[in-house]
Amino acid sequence: LSPVPSDIEISRAQTPKAVDILAKEIGLLADEIEIYGKSKAKVRLSLLERLKDQADGKYVLVAGITPTPLGEGKSTVTIGLVQALTAHLNVNSFACLRQPSQGPTFGVKGGAAGGGYAQVIPMEEFNLHLTGDIHAITAANNLLAAAIDTRILHENTQTDKALYNRLVASVNGVREFSKIQLARLKKLGINKTDPSALTEEEMRKFARLDIDPSTITWQRVMDTNDRFLRKITIGQGNTEKGFSRQAQFDIAVASEVMAVLALTDSLTDMKERLGRMVVASDRNGQPVTTGDLGTPVFVHAGPFANIAHGNSSVLADKIALKLVGEEGYVVTEAGFGADIGMEKFFNIKCRASGLVPSVVVLVATVRALKMHGGGPSVTAGVPLKKEYTEENLQLVADGCCNLEKQIQIAQLFGVPVVVALNVFRTDTRAEIDLVCELAKRAGAFNAVPCYHWSIGGKGSVDLAQAVREAASKKSRFQFLYDVQLPIVEKIRTIAQAVYGAEDIELSPEAQSKIDRYTEQGFGNLPICMAKTHLSLSHQPDKKGVPKDFVLPISDVRASIGAGFIYPLVGTMSTMPGLPTRPCFYDIDLDTETEQVKGLF
Ligand code: ADP
Repeated sequence: LSPVPSDIEISRAQTPKAVDILAKEIGLLADEIEIYGKSKAKVRLSLLERLKDQADGKYVLVAGITPTPLGEGKSTVTIGLVQALTAHLNVNSFACLRQPSQGPTFGVKGGAAGGGYAQVIPMEEFNLHLTGDIHAITAANNLLAAAIDTRILHENTQTDKALYNRLVASVNGVREFSKIQLARLKKLGINKTDPSALTEEEMRKFARLDIDPSTITWQRVMDTNDRFLRKITIGQGNTEKGFSRQAQFDIAVASEVMAVLALTDSLTDMKERLGRMVVASDRNGQPVTTGDLGTPVFVHAGPFANIAHGNSSVLADKIALKLVGEEGYVVTEAGFGADIGMEKFFNIKCRASGLVPSVVVLVATVRALKMHGGGPSVTAGVPLKKEYTEENLQLVADGCCNLEKQIQIAQLFGVPVVVALNVFRTDTRAEIDLVCELAKRAGAFNAVPCYHWSIGGKGSVDLAQAVREAASKKSRFQFLYDVQLPIVEKIRTIAQAVYGAEDIELSPEAQSKIDRYTEQGFGNLPICMAKTHLSLSHQPDKKGVPKDFVLPISDVRASIGAGFIYPLVGTMSTMPGLPTRPCFYDIDLDTETEQVKGLF
């Protein structure tokens, strides 16, 4: 239809196929799915075992240029591309996306289902809770947070004997010590490796974790943007007197539990990773892990981790790669610009999964390029200025420096790049041709305009064909850095090669954390930078390709279970705030139709 109706109108005009029928059509057996309502289901991991001899399909990553706060359409391109591949080129294909956080849904950007005639339906269910995985992650994360503070309280208010009586059962249950536990035993002067050989006295010593409260790195989380929880004081009740301390909330999708879930490849591996998560240090400077506090069993699945590594789950991709067959395509999306989501996709997710991508699709819009070329700032909820609604070839040409830089970043990894120009109604022919021309000149394998948002899959047929051609080339995929390099070297490599920084500058806190993690034996993990997505640099207002800047690293955290070191760049916060006029102003329940309204 023209004009294109709102996202929610389009979603509601469709009748989704019953999920059991859909599952059958894509080759899933009845006992391999668990149905949630009419249009959602979870897939059992037994599928991977059944299809283990099936060759994988082609693996395509959709990334983007540095976006405006409105998003430039990576999700719509992802959906449009699989619509074109499946319905118009007749090849099996799958999209693997992340589950939206309620932070952006009710905050600045809105949902993450894509939009127009290229979106995930039913979009209300997708944007609001889905199968409840984010809430399950929140619960698991907060259980651990409660366990840490409670343990400190109990260790400091009970005698060794009482503590021993209460904890000995859990220590007795340990059949094998982890590397971290062995190091802790050694530090305690106990040179035994067999748990059953410990004496009662040694057990008592071992049971006491002696957590140093000032080193606790595990935060409470919730899936709401709430700036007032960025710094809080906990433990103010009468029974916790003397144990109050400064703490903070993070957004749930930044929880390490979410990252573990998205990076794991089996239940066994997930359990091990959850047990390896380091939550604090003891008073001897040794790491205290989740495993030390008791092993959590967490059986739930769901992607998304935006301030963490920003990619959907390894398991979803692995299952989809089997299901599409050797000639098929799996299209997955990496959050933010290629400098953030794509860099982490390659260096963290592909390193963890061993999967080799065939093609990168880089999404650009004329709107964002004009912003990079010096156009006025773009703010959610404020109508776009005329620079964005009328032809302006100069701004487009000047802004293409960001696109060129993002193409070069993708090329560092040896994967061919296809630029997808997500066309908006106001873009002119001359502007579209100019972007495609400049993208090809900058080394893109191909660059094509896409119209999936306004007309669905057939608007992305050219993109699908370009991706197919690029995927037939041999991928010369390589990682950006060797994980064995010192932490500082790895951070510097990303800052210089990807962001274009002159150098990095570590705060004293960042330096001492790096020293501690290295000493604790965690120096050889990949790096997950938490940096603004609105600029290649650490300053959101520096558009285009910022030059002559030194990247400040204000703090460094470690996600040992997920398997990465997590530097915080500049003033990056792990708890987003709500804007003055958040999206929830428009979201309401229509009691007559019993439907949610105002969801974009
Ligand atoms: P990203 O995944 O890059 O963050 P999305 O695909 O979620 O971006 O799109 C952001 C918003 O922009 C959505 O509301 C979507 O409907 C809208 N949008 C995307 N492409 C177009 C287009 N070509 N024309 C108009 N609106 C679009």
